[in-house]
Amino acid sequence: MSDKVNLLNLTRGDMEAFFADLGEKPFRAKQVIQWLHQYGVSDFAAMTNLSKALRGKLAEVAEIRTPEVLVDQASADGTHKWLLKLDKGNSVETVFIPEKNRGTLCISSQVGCALECSFCSTGQQGFNRNLSVAEIIGQVWVANKALGWDPLANGKEERIISNIVFMGMGEPLLNFDNTVKTIDLLLDDFAYGLSKRRVTVSTSGVVPALGRLKEVSDVALALSLHAPNDELRDKLVPINQKYPLREVLDACRHYISGDTRRKVTIEYVMLDGVNDSPAHARELVKVLRGLPSKVNLIPFNPFPDTQYRRSTDAAIERFREVLIKNGLITLTRRTRGDDIDAACGQLVGQVTDKTRRIQNKLAVG
Ligand code: SAH
Ligand code: SF4
Repeated sequence: MSDKVNLLNLTRGDMEAFFADLGEKPFRAKQVIQWLHQYGVSDFAAMTNLSKALRGKLAEVAEIRTPEVLVDQASADGTHKWLLKLDKGNSVETVFIPEKNRGTLCISSQVGCALECSFCSTGQQGFNRNLSVAEIIGQVWVANKALGWDPLANGKEERIISNIVFMGMGEPLLNFDNTVKTIDLLLDDFAYGLSKRRVTVSTSGVVPALGRLKEVSDVALALSLHAPNDELRDKLVPINQKYPLREVLDACRHYISGDTRRKVTIEYVMLDGVNDSPAHARELVKVLRGLPSKVNLIPFNPFPDTQYRRSTDAAIERFREVLIKNGLITLTRRTRGDDIDAACGQLVGQVTDKTRRIQNKLAVG
């Protein structure tokens, strides 16, 4: 492992401290952040507004290290998926979804996930470790490059990636500090300059972390609800046993409080015969009363050895009608990139699972 500082780990504030340590002026941070994130530069020699001496010094003490692309797949519908190597035993997946008026990148925050939601392929793989800031923001960096974005050659053209969602592998609120630093870079005008509405954190409902997130950030929030009562949610989203429905919904209400225009996106995976009846829909309407929200119905995306099946189109439509009749804005998420297993919940990567190994050891020994 290199002991050089990977500059992709640093927010602008961190970078200012880094340059202060080198005896340099704070404005160097802005310049280098721009080179890294607005021009996609990974070579100090290209940073032409820094003196040669400073570039030399940087090359000695710092590096710009991004995840390595192992596989790059394109779907017939324009969706892209990259398998990115982080270290010897670990890789994660990142997905780009182009739409008419936007391009959304779905990024991973952990290698695997410890929360073991029963319908999620990532959750079935176990957990290895949190991603660093460089590894999270590095997904944006790598995807930009792979999509052909090259402002040094072509001028500062519109970015291809306009929206970021933390909906890849892992639970972002359990990698809190690195998620917050990544958000900082995504919103920073000298880095990606995205508006807070174009960055969405998706969580299964880590209540204390939601409270802390409100203190430091106001990006968009999506809650993976998936069930309208505790009995069912305990089974589908086991973290519900620790933070039950009422507490999660209260934490969401608190998160968007202070701005009457904001809504929480409620994600609800449609599982055949499990949570998709009109009675469930009516229960959901009741549960969401008092929380400004819009609902995204996600047809279940299957993966090998799963016990679940996707709800029928008719069941999804019936469910949606109940919600709409009761005044809830409801969309059914179109399945994208399923020919390359790039749809929600299908991301796998390579996870050297520590949790399972520990559990196995306990079981044996
Ligand atoms: N851990 C976070 C973010 C990653 S999961 C969370 O749970 O919110 C992103 C979204 O994909 C979540 O709403 C998740 O519930 C959903 N998802 C997981 N597995 C799925 C599957 N097999 N089919 C459809 N959606 C799935
Ligand atoms: Fe983890 Fe989210 Fe998958 Fe649940 S749905 S196992 S929280 S990644």
